[in-house]
Amino acid sequence: MNRVILIKYGELTTKKGNRNFFINTLFKNLKKKLVGFSVNISKDRARMYIEFEDREFAEIKNIIDKIFGIHMYHIAYIVSSSLEEIKKNILEIVKKESFSTFKVETKRCDKNFDIHSQEMNKILGGMILKNMANVSVDVHNPELFIHVEIREKNTYIYFNGFKGSGGYPVGSQARGMLMLSGGIDSPVAGYLAMKRGISLDAVYFEAIPHTSLNARQKVIDLTKKLVKYCDSINLHIVNFTPIQEAIYKNCRGDYCITIMRRMMYRIMEKIVNMHKGYVIINGESIGQVASQTLTSMKVINQVTNIPVIRPVACLDKLEIIDIARKIDTYDISILPFEDCCTVFVPKHPIINPKLEVALAEENKFNYEEMIDTCLRELNTIKVSDTNEFEDLL
Ligand code: ATP
Ligand code: MG
Repeated sequence: MNRVILIKYGELTTKKGNRNFFINTLFKNLKKKLVGFSVNISKDRARMYIEFEDREFAEIKNIIDKIFGIHMYHIAYIVSSSLEEIKKNILEIVKKESFSTFKVETKRCDKNFDIHSQEMNKILGGMILKNMANVSVDVHNPELFIHVEIREKNTYIYFNGFKGSGGYPVGSQARGMLMLSGGIDSPVAGYLAMKRGISLDAVYFEAIPHTSLNARQKVIDLTKKLVKYCDSINLHIVNFTPIQEAIYKNCRGDYCITIMRRMMYRIMEKIVNMHKGYVIINGESIGQVASQTLTSMKVINQVTNIPVIRPVACLDKLEIIDIARKIDTYDISILPFEDCCTVFVPKHPIINPKLEVALAEENKFNYEEMIDTCLRELNTIKVSDTNEFEDLL
């Protein structure tokens, strides 16, 4: 009997006017990720269906679990939509399952089908009770849900399914620029932003020779983990060395981090505009370090009007770590290569910086010119699921 993976969109159904756009984006994303598999994907306004080969199911499942915009999915048997066909096949299908309690739940999507849902539940439930030993009906908490979804041409029979990753399909929102360091927080921030449908570019600030090529490789490896959730990510690498050195040469020690982050935001704003982005995304978490107190955030954020999205702002570190483990970035993030923030961290960074002081300190050197140089020398690499970058290192 033919089986398909039946996909339910979930939250997309609330997007009335944009429904087709969301569905088409999900369809495109699925198609791209499943290139190379023996699949046939089709869609209607309510469902997506993937015909598949059994031997490839585990791999396909692995991919589907990382595609946003899917609420639930099931393996569904297809029979044609007639009472006789449904009755003829349902026993054979149900007998493959082991369970002691069940409930039949019919959904009559084709209103021309002349038997009502409740009636179908009774007919099919009765048949199962009569033909299978040691099973009973439990309408409240059944072990096996037997879903019978009657559509115009086909009826889909399926059981308890798999939870999809939720959210909106990547690409259903505009582009955001993720500030991606080698730490734990920023890959998690990127993952959560993609879950809301944002497609990403990533920006990494490096300070060679104070930071190593290993640190850069770490960021590339983190990006590779993130592209499992999307198609590809352009990673922009900024040579931040001259600016960092100038800050530490010219500015008050306790303001160095504040000013460094103001410089990062200034550069981010320009990269956002150069690459058709709309927002900055980062892994700042309130109170985590001196630069992430609310007073610091205000002084740092003052350099740009571009919205800054901070998906992990209100999460505890342990909650962030849980997500990092789930998306498999944690083990890379804890590798001990220095990041430009950690290399230059002063003994006592200011916790409640004053805007006037930050302005006075940063005006001690000509940063505009240095920022322009950074942008001219931006090194961009496209990271996708498959490519390798040995030649860049
Ligand atoms: P950790 O998990 O150790 O906190 P982190 O990446 O969050 O690492 P923070 O110093 O807390 O590092 O920086 C806050 C945010 O600023 C990061 O989450 C990241 O978005 C951005 N950021 C910091 N350093 C860099 C960098 N070198 N390149 C790009 N973005 C950076
Ligand atoms: Mg952090």
